Amino acid sequence: VCKDPPSVSSATAKMNGKSACTDVMDYVLQKKLRVWCSSPNAKWELGQIKSISGDDAEILLADGKILTISPERLLPANPDVLDGVDDLIQMSYLNEPSVLHNLQLRYSRDLIYTKAGPVLIAVNPLKEIPLYGKASMLQYKQKTKDDPHVYAVADLAFNEMLQDGINQSIIISGESGAGKTETAKIAMQYLAALGGASGMESEVLQTNVILEALGNAKTSRNHNSSRFGKLIEIHFSETGKMCGAKIQTFLLEKSRVVQRAQGERSYHIFYQLCSGAPPLLKKKLSLKSANDYTYLKQSNCLRIDGVDDSKMFTVLVDALDTIQISKEDQMKLFSMLAAVLWMGNISFSVVDTENHVEVVSNEGLATAAKLLGCTSNQLVTAMSTRKIRAGNDSIVKKLTLTQKNGFEQFCINYANERLQQHFNRHLFKLQQEEYLEDGIDWAPVKFVDNTDCLSLFEKKPLGLLSLLDEESTFPKATDLSFANKLKQQLSANSCFKGEQEGAFKICHYAGEVTYDTSGFLEKNRDSLHSESIQLLSSCKCELPKHFASVMVADSQNKSSQSWHSVVDTQKQSVVTKFKVQLFKLMQQLESTTPHFIRCIQPNGKQRPRLFEHDLFLHQLKCCGVLEVVRISRTGYPTRMTHQQFAERYGFLLLRSIASQDPLSVSIAVLQQLNIPPEMYQVGYTKLFFRTGQVAALENAKRKM
Ligand code: ATP
Ligand code: MG
Repeated sequence: VCKDPPSVSSATAKMNGKSACTDVMDYVLQKKLRVWCSSPNAKWELGQIKSISGDDAEILLADGKILTISPERLLPANPDVLDGVDDLIQMSYLNEPSVLHNLQLRYSRDLIYTKAGPVLIAVNPLKEIPLYGKASMLQYKQKTKDDPHVYAVADLAFNEMLQDGINQSIIISGESGAGKTETAKIAMQYLAALGGASGMESEVLQTNVILEALGNAKTSRNHNSSRFGKLIEIHFSETGKMCGAKIQTFLLEKSRVVQRAQGERSYHIFYQLCSGAPPLLKKKLSLKSANDYTYLKQSNCLRIDGVDDSKMFTVLVDALDTIQISKEDQMKLFSMLAAVLWMGNISFSVVDTENHVEVVSNEGLATAAKLLGCTSNQLVTAMSTRKIRAGNDSIVKKLTLTQKNGFEQFCINYANERLQQHFNRHLFKLQQEEYLEDGIDWAPVKFVDNTDCLSLFEKKPLGLLSLLDEESTFPKATDLSFANKLKQQLSANSCFKGEQEGAFKICHYAGEVTYDTSGFLEKNRDSLHSESIQLLSSCKCELPKHFASVMVADSQNKSSQSWHSVVDTQKQSVVTKFKVQLFKLMQQLESTTPHFIRCIQPNGKQRPRLFEHDLFLHQLKCCGVLEVVRISRTGYPTRMTHQQFAERYGFLLLRSIASQDPLSVSIAVLQQLNIPPEMYQVGYTKLFFRTGQVAALENAKRKM
């Protein structure tokens, strides 16, 4: 259909429609090819050029109508043989409507995975699709199928690990509800199938059930939203057998236990326990139904459509059994969870005009004390010493939906900036640096560099994190004084903007986000009063005692003072701890070969078969996937040293050549096989090949 279009790759170097190079458009107009027409409502419509009259083009649209439009509002569409290609790098014209059309077409056929060069795009199907299971795994294992899939990514990582002896990482990113957790499970299932045999693989898979019960909750965007980050390490022996696993979690959203937006839930485990605990356990924990607990009923959402909490409790207990958590320890865990619920039912009454409050002796108090293994009096003492804070309205203040961006989101978005930098580094910087170092002819591909935003967070002493820590140490500081300080110190930074009423804006790589500073200082200090720790350590139950000793050890990390004086003042702040954790994570990732999966949610309604263009495009654009496609298409993804190439293909030479040095041998082979010069570049130390060229060489080798 479209023979020989002129210099497509350079002509489409600009994605943003209107300035597509005219020579490509001239060609398209002249040949009367398919085009995308931009309509006033910002949607793109596919049509075929009928004629050119004066300055305008007449386009035949799919519904038979003729549209008269200026060529400036047209973009070239790909020939229909390229409809639904499984790697975006195969597209002749890489523009927004073409990419969206391709992904939407595939999505409508339940082909949710598409490659964007080295990155796998996974569009959340929001329904069950028949792409998984043993038979499908086998096809990928035996390489009889190579359609883009999470299995293919996991397979590649597994094989590279065995071949090269280098640790591999699969980095899964995307917005809330985009499918990261499900994708991670699918990858783990495949790895478990490859490395299975010992029985350990089922233990590793079951950890997901436990993590989700304790760390996932229904939010307005995802009924199973992970409220923490995680790094799952899976260890394999030299022969590829799974031999261990290690899970690290990051920054659980603790505040969700006591407050959250209307229509959202606390952690699944609380509802599972209330509805699924067998009668005997219920009695031991004096458990009631979820509706009887203030912490659970306050957000007016107790159930999730299509989820049976009671059944999930059984699934959880099975998982705990599988990873060999003893019944005794399970009992301790459930007692603590029940104690939390009961503590939420303890009420306070105002005793004076200064809003001082007192604990009211009620069922909540007695039951919580019983479950913790302390007396009601001890609990009252611990709680009363915090009465000033309890009287502070921040505790009872209800969150509204529009406030979704608080302290936790701030930390998560900071981590996402770091991960995006890792992505940029590997897919843009390192690759292009290698081209330049090896002296090949290369016009750099631009990408959105987020260094400025990262330095807004990390700069010392005038960065967001330092300023937050500094303000957190002042006893008299408030969230508002923190917000004012940010305004004073950071307003010159282009990624920052101070807003009214304690809010501020950050220009993240993924777009602008407004944060509300309320709760920032309190959450960053995360201080547990010495009275609370004293209470926990005096409890008869082991678990609270253990918590107390962990907390003391935590605070003593920084100081050798006794815990009575260190708690509250010497403890590392939450953001500092998080930053340290994040840096360790990045170091760990840097020592691996990375594989990237970008999850995309097709719509904001969690409904299958619905494709919202703007939302979709925003996600594609902000993570740099399209630039990755461009760099992969115009770039040279395969590289080999002259030595490696000569060793591998030198024997193909039919005639002997004068010089036997690896470079001369390599060039002679390339010439003999008629590899077109635009398909490779010769660097100082390496040969760089365009996609598909090595397959051609291997083919020639097989034929010899
Ligand atoms: P969060 O950041 O909120 O944790 P997430 O990216 O982890 O979100 P998931 O919980 O993995 O999102 O996915 C949200 C929902 O989308 C899942 O509960 C499931 O219903 C659906 N989903 C995701 N991936 C798939 C898939 N491959 N097949 C079927 N359904 C899926
Ligand atoms: Mg998740």
